[in-house]
Amino acid sequence: MAMVDFIDIDKRYGNTAALESINLSVERGEFLTLLGPSGSGKTTLLNLIAGLIKPTTGKLLIDGKDTANISPGERGLGMVFQNYALMPHMTVFENIAFPLRVRRVPEAQIRQRVHDVLELVRLPNVEKRKPKELSGGQQQRVSLARCIVYSPSLILMDEPLGALDKKLREQMQFEIKQLHATLGITMLNVTHDQEEALTLSDRIVLMNNGAIEQIGTPSELYFSP
Ligand code: ADP
Ligand code: ADP
Repeated sequence: MAMVDFIDIDKRYGNTAALESINLSVERGEFLTLLGPSGSGKTTLLNLIAGLIKPTTGKLLIDGKDTANISPGERGLGMVFQNYALMPHMTVFENIAFPLRVRRVPEAQIRQRVHDVLELVRLPNVEKRKPKELSGGQQQRVSLARCIVYSPSLILMDEPLGALDKKLREQMQFEIKQLHATLGITMLNVTHDQEEALTLSDRIVLMNNGAIEQIGTPSELYFSP
């Protein structure tokens, strides 16, 4: 069973058609990238899965279940944003512990889990710092750590590396790829960077003007004769 199924989905904002006739399955464990120019509907597609907005028409399934009555908190997924969206007054530890506190995980387990995920994202010795004392790349690692700390089955990433310079972007691409391989989590990434899509993805969805133009593996889309 697919992780996510879009079945004939339209999304309109007033008279603007942001998405039209979307049919797409996100397979379990894959790294899927939505690639397309600004305004092509990538963020809208992600926000539908997250439950931040609702389809105008059509059905959206997560784990085979109709999401019409599943709240964002019940969807078991994590989100990573370009601006990190960390809580500025909390330490790194408290930011990452937050989703576990919400789930009433015992304190001893929280300490262990936070420690483990900080190792996974290669960020030791920053637990007591505040987000603004860290570099952009470090903040994005914290935001990834906050996502994976409660073992979601799906991570949605909206241009997670968009605010980083080229060198750091390439480094983080490598690290995200490793995390994907290590954890086996389904990852859905949004970008308008073709290089990034080719480097990271099992499959790429090319979007334009609210529609899917093409879906394929990097080699199918870019290296076929
Ligand atoms: P991106 O290209 O990264 O999706 P945008 O700058 O297009 O970012 O959008 C930023 C925010 O503004 C989003 O929350 C989006 O929903 C909202 N937005 C985008 N276009 C419009 C619009 N025409 N009217 C109202 N809100 C919009
Ligand atoms: P992308 O992420 O590819 O940049 P978006 O999903 O943000 O594209 O936007 C798709 C279309 O929907 C654009 O025309 C955008 O202006 C419009 N749009 C997005 N969010 C809103 C909103 N909240 N209100 C009105 N129009 C929006």
